[in-house]
Amino acid sequence: MPIYDFRCSACDQVFELVVRGSLEPACPHCASTALQRQVSLTAPQGTSKAIIASARQKAQAEGHFSHYSKAERRKAGV
Ligand SMILES: [Zn+2]
Repeated sequence: MPIYDFRCSACDQVFELVVRGSLEPACPHCASTALQRQVSLTAPQGTSKAIIASARQKAQAEGHFSHYSKAERRKAGV
């Protein structure tokens, strides 16, 4: 089950919650459901911009552009 970091908009507490299915997570401090999900540093997701950027840097260093879109390849003259 995925564990996410949340910040409560109501009481400004930061905490981890296990998200079960479609249940709406609630703040353990004040029971508010006005939560903002934080980007987890310990379990990065594949869609993270930082991961994509580093993959592109690696690809560029290796001389291929498979991580770039066609438009970006045109711009780069590849
Ligand atoms: Zn709260």
